[in-house]
Amino acid sequence: MIPSAFAYHRPGNLAAAIGLLVEHGDEARVIAGGHSLIPMMKLRMAEVGHLVDLQAVVELKGISVEAGRVTIGAMVTQAELIGHEGLAKAVPLLREAALQIADPQVRYVGTVGGNVANGDPGNDMPGLMQCLGAMFTLVGPGGSRDVAAREFYHGLYATERAEDEILTRIAIPVAAGGYAYEKQKRKIGDYATAAAAVLLTKAGGTVTSASVAMTNLSDVPVWSGDAAAALVGTDCGPAAVQAAVAAMLGDIDPQQDNRGPIAFKKHVAGVILGRAIARAWSRA
Ligand SMILES: Cc1cc2nc3c(=O)[nH]c(=O)nc-3n(C[C@H](O)[C@H](O)[C@H](O)COP(=O)(O)OP(=O)(O)OC[C@H]3O[C@@H](n4cnc5c(N)ncnc54)[C@H](O)[C@@H]3O)c2cc1C
Repeated sequence: MIPSAFAYHRPGNLAAAIGLLVEHGDEARVIAGGHSLIPMMKLRMAEVGHLVDLQAVVELKGISVEAGRVTIGAMVTQAELIGHEGLAKAVPLLREAALQIADPQVRYVGTVGGNVANGDPGNDMPGLMQCLGAMFTLVGPGGSRDVAAREFYHGLYATERAEDEILTRIAIPVAAGGYAYEKQKRKIGDYATAAAAVLLTKAGGTVTSASVAMTNLSDVPVWSGDAAAALVGTDCGPAAVQAAVAAMLGDIDPQQDNRGPIAFKKHVAGVILGRAIARAWSRA
């Protein structure tokens, strides 16, 4: 199918892009890499009167790695994220997860901002950002505000972002410790049947801190504070992993679809989380 007719805008800076969103109201939508939005327009699941292309907005580009914090511009592509050595060293979980998104063609064009702003529970970056404790900067006509990734997702395609706001940057605290992103998919390039992001620190054979987030197992990404709490203070042995999996299962709400029935998804979620914890622990 082809999308319905739309007007195309290519603003050269952030203020002009926001101006277009204000001017055209709910008829306007920004486009970043277009690898989620264009398919939706072609399927007529999204009808956009005014498409505001962010490719020429320089304020949305760039990666900066400072002591204790990395900042990523919304228009950084998944491929740029994978290829940045400083970022991979500071937050290795990002590269590990980005390499499991789609395929190289999609990753050369798809952006980190589009992935987190989309609000699709199948996207890998939202759960990952929750695990990392990321903050999103939103800029609109009223100014700028920061929203925690853990507070950003309200429901299917419903986020904290207002229609006239643009997600500009993502800030991630740099944390030492073990990490793992495990994703079960039906085939190469597919969205997750279930995916788990885990961060762990340890001291003297005991887990001192943990963060756990799950992808595509609810209509929002699921950061499971209870799963993390079940690991802290333990030796990360089988009993602790079992307790973490049980806690995570209490937080997810998978639905039956072409990736399988609910019981299967819960089973896969448990296996995937167990693997992610084991790998993060081995790296901690
Ligand atoms: C074959 C295929 C397989 C894929 N597999 C995966 C996968 O395994 N995992 C995965 O995570 N993704 C997958 N994707 C999706 C891909 O990663 C997209 O690129 C990503 O979801 C959206 O990024 P984008 O830059 O293309 O955004 P776009 O498609 O341009 O935009 C997506 C949405 O976000 C909004 N938006 C974009 N940027 C901003 C911004 N800065 N501020 C506010 N709103 C914004 C847009 O208005 C739109 O609503 C796949 C896509 C394809 C085509």
